[in-house]
Amino acid sequence: MGKSSKDKRDIYYRLAKEEGWRARSAFKLLQIDETFNILKDVRKAVDLCAAPGSWSQVLAKKLDSSNATETKIVAVDLQAMAPLPGVIQIQGDITKKSTAEAIISHFEGEQADLVVCDGAPDVTGLHDIDEFIQSQLLLAALNITTHILKRGGKFVAKIFRGREVSLLYSQLRIFFNRVTIVKPRSSRNSSIEAFALCEGYDPPEGYTPNMMNPLLENSSVDWSQLEGEVNRFVTPFLACGDLSAFDSDRCYPLSFQGQYERREPVQPPIRPPYADAMNLVTKMGDFHIERHD
Ligand code: SAM
Repeated sequence: MGKSSKDKRDIYYRLAKEEGWRARSAFKLLQIDETFNILKDVRKAVDLCAAPGSWSQVLAKKLDSSNATETKIVAVDLQAMAPLPGVIQIQGDITKKSTAEAIISHFEGEQADLVVCDGAPDVTGLHDIDEFIQSQLLLAALNITTHILKRGGKFVAKIFRGREVSLLYSQLRIFFNRVTIVKPRSSRNSSIEAFALCEGYDPPEGYTPNMMNPLLENSSVDWSQLEGEVNRFVTPFLACGDLSAFDSDRCYPLSFQGQYERREPVQPPIRPPYADAMNLVTKMGDFHIERHD
């Protein structure tokens, strides 16, 4: 870890290891659900940009499984993901037509209740470029969503709150009755990341999803006619997750006021790089290390 980079192994990282989530991101979806009930009555969901799979784990655990034959979760990522029971996995780039078509093919004759996208590019540190690439991921996710989401359905997507983000808010508002920007407690304040929570899928009259057109150039809709609220909309920004939830920007000791006691990880590291060093120390018998911090 470089001198200037922040230790990412915060309290949520530890909790994820202890509770068996594949990534600390699980808590972001859990906290959004805690406040906005987004998983209620959801049976079919798509998890875009899903690796290593903690959001898919949350979906697999929390979706309405009262009728198991109706439950469907499709997870997609550029990276390979370890299998998860009950989750159909696709490896591919969501900005590519072939991947989008593979996802859509799983929904022939049926529709999804929810699409989530936690997609993030490998950040370059050049903010304008990072924000632009992230917004392209979001638009690719939205385009796929317009093919499979049922009317009234929900879409939750990571968004970077950069300078030009209000254009994205307006684009989302064209397709959804309500757009709220939410920031879970487990998402660091220091990060420009937030999540667009889009509810009530309601595409403009005449809109036909089409893979060959960039999203907002669909010929059947005259976008210039979309006046009024879509253009003047002020998007609410809400924090979510209980205020007493752990603060992701704070350091907690291994035991904290009865609220946190360190536990062993559900699955210890298989072959961590530090194991060799530890073996070496054991082999050296009574080798003695003094620390003067
Ligand atoms: N939600 C995931 C979880 O809970 O485990 C974490 C997602 S991680 C923050 C972002 C993911 O976006 C990475 O796994 C990355 O491979 C994926 N990604 C970035 N660009 C993508 C693209 N064009 N198509 C598919 N996945 C992409």
